[in-house]
Amino acid sequence: MMEYFTTRKDDLVGWVRKFSLFPYPFVTACCGMEFMAVSSTLYDTDRFGAALPRFTPRQADLLMVVGTVSHKQAQVIKKIYDQMCEPKWVMAFGACATSGGFYRNYAVLQGVDKVIPVDIYVPGCPPRPESVIDAIMMLQDRIAGDRHPIFPGEQPNPPKV
Ligand code: SF4
Repeated sequence: MMEYFTTRKDDLVGWVRKFSLFPYPFVTACCGMEFMAVSSTLYDTDRFGAALPRFTPRQADLLMVVGTVSHKQAQVIKKIYDQMCEPKWVMAFGACATSGGFYRNYAVLQGVDKVIPVDIYVPGCPPRPESVIDAIMMLQDRIAGDRHPIFPGEQPNPPKV
């Protein structure tokens, strides 16, 4: 019986959390233009409870790494991530944040997951706003407790039993 109530409570907390995301946009490069597009009224991320950016890590729970990350910036991102309270999630926004994109050189980090754990990757150079919204919805499912792929198009994990 106790197990039943605990499971139901976790579901409720997950459901509430998934609609109260506070993103911290760490914008470094041209993907920022697409971030602005996805934040506009046309795409309305408020529908997902994810429209209000916080520019202090202590008030944010979703770190959006948007654009190319240099090795010098990597330590700053790590510090910001460490300052965020649990639970927290990370989105790699675009090819550069995901894998370094086409910048294969000594200055560029080959993916932000080299320094912090990433929960959702959004492909594209830059990603379309629809891809970002898709990623937010997939992340919401993960937050709510559903198992879900981290790459759009990837086969989902088997459902919970
Ligand atoms: S993925 Fe493309 S658009 Fe985004 S920061 Fe890199 S080069 Fe710019």
